[in-house]
Amino acid sequence: MKAVYFDHAATTPVDRGVLDEMLPYFSQEFGNAGELHRFGRTARAAVERARAQVANAIGAAAGEIVFTAGGTEADNLALLGSLQRLAPGHLIVSAIEHPAILETARALNRAGWDVDFVPVDGLGTIDLDAYAQAFRADTKLASVHFANNVIGTVQPVAELARIAHEHGALFHTDAVQAVGALPIDVVDMGIDMLSLSGHKLFGPKGIGALYVKRGVRLLPVVHGGGQERRLRSGTENVPGIVGLGAAIELAVNGIPETRPRLEALRERLVAGVLARVPDCRYLGHPSQRLPGNAAFTVRFIEGESMLLQLDAQGFMVSSGSACASGSLEPSHVLMALGLGAEEAHGSIRMSLGRENTAEEVDAFLEVFPPIVEKLRLMSPLYVRG
Ligand code: PMP
Repeated sequence: MKAVYFDHAATTPVDRGVLDEMLPYFSQEFGNAGELHRFGRTARAAVERARAQVANAIGAAAGEIVFTAGGTEADNLALLGSLQRLAPGHLIVSAIEHPAILETARALNRAGWDVDFVPVDGLGTIDLDAYAQAFRADTKLASVHFANNVIGTVQPVAELARIAHEHGALFHTDAVQAVGALPIDVVDMGIDMLSLSGHKLFGPKGIGALYVKRGVRLLPVVHGGGQERRLRSGTENVPGIVGLGAAIELAVNGIPETRPRLEALRERLVAGVLARVPDCRYLGHPSQRLPGNAAFTVRFIEGESMLLQLDAQGFMVSSGSACASGSLEPSHVLMALGLGAEEAHGSIRMSLGRENTAEEVDAFLEVFPPIVEKLRLMSPLYVRG
């Protein structure tokens, strides 16, 4: 049975050409980028080439890129690095951030910081009035993700940055889901710090970067030998960095071609599901959303049951309700949209990527409605209308 992969928001395969660029740096070119001999200089040159590729992809300068061990670490460095050097004050985040932001904000709260978790509307867009009103004289930072990993809604980031600056606060965005999918220019958008991750854009896992605008001061979170301008110690992950550089260049250059193609595939999927599955709701913003994200709630059944039935037929999707800890709590993102717990438990997310085809979407639309029908017939919640 052929596997159809519709879970690109969780992770993506490493692009074949990207892998080929990485491979020499595991063995022949294995030097430590901190050493002065030829092997070290070769590794250093590769790291600096990748730094320029990452910077170019988001409109930054090479000196503004700090490599980290992924999106989570970039988020931690942005919040902890910019705030821990200050006396505790006030921090703003959205209610639907990834745990990498939410849990870091909670850790800062335990260390004496006040945190406001700003609500979103039913489509997942941040409430702009509540956001603007949350600022205080001692607000040091606002952090709002570029696009949501569960429902795909894209936030008005340039506007959010402008409001933060009006109040004298820094603006950080977790753009892990957006980089490589949507065009981003940190200068045009007024972004002070931006997190990104390799494995969401057809690059390797365990590598990411934080963009830090020139003049923004940070303290390190990981202490040691002083690599990455003293902001992130540890011997550089040269193959990972090379892979991130190659992957981000490929993904961002491909946006003009990939974005409309993915949007068309997504619309085909959404129209098909809504036409064939009754009592089903499309989640997130209809237009301000990631090109490949199609998330739904399907009433009367569980997301995990749909996921497992689809898996048995070769389709890899995600249920928006399961959280990383495996707890039975419905997703904080879905609850923030105003869904009831029962409806939130019936959520399912398809996230398409550049290798997906219309044939795969059509095959999905053949198998999905009968799965829903079968599960509903077994569900005590379902009363046939
Ligand atoms: N932020 C968002 C919005 C994400 O979707 C993810 C990955 N699920 C992360 C941060 C964490 O990135 P990483 O897996 O590279 O640590």
